[in-house]
Amino acid sequence: MTKRTDSTRRQVLRGGLAAVGGLAAATSAAAPARAQEKLDPKAVQYQTMPKDGNKCSACVNFEAPAACKIVSGKIDPNGWCIAFAPKEQQ
Ligand code: SF4
Repeated sequence: MTKRTDSTRRQVLRGGLAAVGGLAAATSAAAPARAQEKLDPKAVQYQTMPKDGNKCSACVNFEAPAACKIVSGKIDPNGWCIAFAPKEQQ
């Protein structure tokens, strides 16, 4: 009887570990896809003109010559969006 209980316990543990392993694999497989997604320019009200003196070339997310870390598409250095975050001044 003890053998049967131990055997059942092992099966349950194996099943649980397999489920956790499967979840971890699924999560890590999805992470890179999520990390590569960028926001739609319309969703952040992107415009090709500065606003209140703020522009993409002064934003921490700007990647010269014409890209953004978080917004998709071609980004004008003189553009702006609601996600604007000024670079640290030195
Ligand atoms: S303001 Fe910043 S976050 Fe917005 S599009 Fe320009 S560089 Fe990207």
